[in-house]
Amino acid sequence: MVMPRTFHEAKKALASGLTNVAAITRAALEQAKAKAHLNIFPELFEQSALEQAAAVDAKRAKGEAGALAGAVVSIKDNLCYAEHRVTAASHMLQGYTSPYSATVVERLLAADAVIIGRTNCDEFAMGSSNETSTYGPVGNPHDAARVPGGSSGGAAASVAAGICHIALASDTGGSIRQPASFCGVAGFKPTYGRVSRYGLIAFASSFDQIGPLAHDVRDVQSVYEVIAGPDERDNTSSHVPFGTAEVPKRLKVGYYTHCLDHAGMDPEIKAHVHQQLDRLRDEGHEVVPMELALADLFVPAYYILSTAEASSNLARFDGIRYGHRAKDAHGVEEVYRKSRSQGFGPEVKRRILLGTFVLSAGYYDAYYAQGMRVRRLIRDNTLRDLAACDVLLTPTCPITAFPHGHISDPVAMYLQDIFTVQANLAGVPAISIPAGTHSNGMPFGIQLMAKPFGDERLLAVARQVFGA
Ligand code: GLN
Repeated sequence: MVMPRTFHEAKKALASGLTNVAAITRAALEQAKAKAHLNIFPELFEQSALEQAAAVDAKRAKGEAGALAGAVVSIKDNLCYAEHRVTAASHMLQGYTSPYSATVVERLLAADAVIIGRTNCDEFAMGSSNETSTYGPVGNPHDAARVPGGSSGGAAASVAAGICHIALASDTGGSIRQPASFCGVAGFKPTYGRVSRYGLIAFASSFDQIGPLAHDVRDVQSVYEVIAGPDERDNTSSHVPFGTAEVPKRLKVGYYTHCLDHAGMDPEIKAHVHQQLDRLRDEGHEVVPMELALADLFVPAYYILSTAEASSNLARFDGIRYGHRAKDAHGVEEVYRKSRSQGFGPEVKRRILLGTFVLSAGYYDAYYAQGMRVRRLIRDNTLRDLAACDVLLTPTCPITAFPHGHISDPVAMYLQDIFTVQANLAGVPAISIPAGTHSNGMPFGIQLMAKPFGDERLLAVARQVFGA
């Protein structure tokens, strides 16, 4: 059977009686195996996926199927699924089985989605290329010699390779949007607090947000509607009512001149953004150039604060409670030291060291407290800019997917996050939508940001005004 490319196509095929969820699931699993060389899935949940598919078909026969019946979904390897392994792509969690499910996983299953496996990612979601994973790198489906982006590289590739309709992932500084851009799919980071983080292995708790990737925004929206909303198990999840999806006739689109003049900006991506702005003007929308304040502080503020939070969150991996434990260690301190030295990879260690440093007594005020003040300013500026328009348009990344091993300097890698971290620092919703194909053959995306809890309208704008 030919696998329907999108979830809405799958729904149509199901409605016409041409197929059933079990057949779609089998086709997806076959596709995953045929594309094993891309290294997308450390593990396929074949048995539970087929069981779920059969259960959904039985519900369909009774006319009781949920909103996501027919959707084939992958989950990033940092989302807990009861009785399934989860490792954050780290040696530290090899062999660990989650005793419970993340709220988003529960909601997906309750809506009758089929989860076919966990996707490769950077270790503990730290990275921009999926190269820090203990499972090794993922191949970009458009060119296997290039990275799929990160940290949710497997997630984006699982959709782009035609295996899944939808991937669920996390975004702390761009990890949904940048791989979406590199792989030519749509990736959405909702407003901080809109989606429960319960059951997500925490990286930087005040930045982390869960969201979907899919071929188009219609599918993104179908999943968002299922996973969004308050959850008493995550007290940062919000009770703010859902917003309007109405799109003004004459949309006010802001853009930062600074982003387009950025030194590392690929000229073709820049030209594309200019074409988009021209098109919007021609269609009668208002296009407003804006000054970007403090842009040079985005990446430093993000890396100071996110590593501080990570050093605290990752303290729980001590060799005793979860996963890897050093064999030849004696005494508590040695167990901690050896287990953590063996369990974590170099990028995670680098971040724990940096985070511990910025939180340490002598440097707390100079780095962490200062970082918090800068974050407040960035947030205030971002909210002010968003108050002056309906959406802000930026490139998602300055470049297209690069070859494996191409960026080895960690700071150069961190600078890839220049356009994406703003939304996490400010807690606002942002989506990367497929924009075009570069002359090098690789896809790229553009990013739209909106006001906090403007998620519904942001998705509507992406669909109606950008055709995504
Ligand atoms: N690339 C960023 C980092 O390495 C973002 C990661 C993420 O969003 N999880 O921290």
